[in-house]
Amino acid sequence: MVNAFLLAALAASASPQAERLESLCAPLRPGVAMDLSGTSYRPEQAHAPGDAMAAVDARQSMLLLPDGRFLLRTSNLYPGDIEFRYRTLGDRNGERTVDELGWRDGDVLQQDDAATVARDLADLRMLAPGLLACDAIARNPGQPAAGGAASFKDGAGREVTLAFDASGDLASAKRDGDVYRYEGWNTDAALRLPATIIHSRDGRERERWTRVRARPAQAADTALLSLPDGYRPADPPPSLHATPLGEGAYRIDGAPSGYHTGFVAGEKGIVLFDAPVDVDEAKAVRAVIEKAAPGRAITYVVISHVHGDHVAGLPAHADAEVLVGAGGVAALRRQLGDRLPARVREVMHAETLELGDRRIRVLPLASGHAATMLVGFDPASGTLFQGDLFYIPERGAVPVAFSTGRELATLIDSNGLDVRTIVGVHGRSGTPADLRGAVARIPARNDRGCVGEQMTGAVACSTATE
Ligand SMILES: [Zn+2]
Ligand SMILES: [Zn+2]
Repeated sequence: MVNAFLLAALAASASPQAERLESLCAPLRPGVAMDLSGTSYRPEQAHAPGDAMAAVDARQSMLLLPDGRFLLRTSNLYPGDIEFRYRTLGDRNGERTVDELGWRDGDVLQQDDAATVARDLADLRMLAPGLLACDAIARNPGQPAAGGAASFKDGAGREVTLAFDASGDLASAKRDGDVYRYEGWNTDAALRLPATIIHSRDGRERERWTRVRARPAQAADTALLSLPDGYRPADPPPSLHATPLGEGAYRIDGAPSGYHTGFVAGEKGIVLFDAPVDVDEAKAVRAVIEKAAPGRAITYVVISHVHGDHVAGLPAHADAEVLVGAGGVAALRRQLGDRLPARVREVMHAETLELGDRRIRVLPLASGHAATMLVGFDPASGTLFQGDLFYIPERGAVPVAFSTGRELATLIDSNGLDVRTIVGVHGRSGTPADLRGAVARIPARNDRGCVGEQMTGAVACSTATE
């Protein structure tokens, strides 16, 4: 009764804006448990080469507690049903992140410092308008209500400005080039929430959350603050070098990005597979190739597919002929403009590249990940070169394959390729047995690990920890 009386007295004396902030903040003072689903927009990752932007199915679950402890789980589904699923656990001193599916980063435990936490937490709070209201109250009390706006410095010291619409709901939060718009406000169990949250940076839409659910955090939620076992910090990366795979086939290891360019050296030149991830890295890789196979020209660069990270180094190979899947030239031109090497050709059917003493097969593949997919095969060494079809991390168990793994297995079978080693642009090399085992374990249905459901969804999901 006393509290209700005090609140009523406070409300009577406060400005309309202070009232708005207080009513938005109050239910979330214990913290928030939140689920979001929507779309994330990623440049140069689309399936069709004509699309500059991929619309990625994005899901997120998070628990943000008042003392700074937090849990974040994300699941992003790229073309070809390739899912990135990560979990971050942190407090104000630091955060640890793991790859829940173990395909991209394997068993590596990524650790980040307090400065990273401050930025990450401030970013997450932009998705919980009630917490922004709490920040405005706590960090900038007694400020004038200028034009219906409120401002405060976020946990990383950046100015955030809140704007309200005519009906008194929060319309947007701005911070430097980032704008979050909150639309379609509704009330659910005393909690006011927007139906849609749209995040843009520098005028370009980055995420659109179209399913937004939240509840106040409860004491029992602290049980969710855990990471799965079996992860440990990364090993120091190797120095940049070419690893021989036998018979003149090589894989580049130790590149700054961790990507692996492949190459095969023959009498009459060198075939390169992919040009990640920028021109500087591709130049450094080229220098290593020139040392491994001195005096031989890079005659061809075979592009696995036209996603930006796989092609951005192409300007370092201006003298080579670039081979790309059907429709890929326009995508390369869109990304590289004048810096695209002059000789570039689309591969419409399987073909063989002659290197004098050896031949390299180039095989188009209608992949769900990218329409421009090409796979390279060197019969002399039994080495297959591929990008984004099958992943084994640098360290950790061979993970379950995505549907793209099945596509690769089918391609190997239907072409009767006698494969000994599968080289991926990402991760360590594997064998056909690794591929078959990983394909056999593809689940019939992908439940996304309950990400986007864990905090407010079914009971079965609310206890999910794996
Ligand atoms: Zn890709
Ligand atoms: Zn890739």
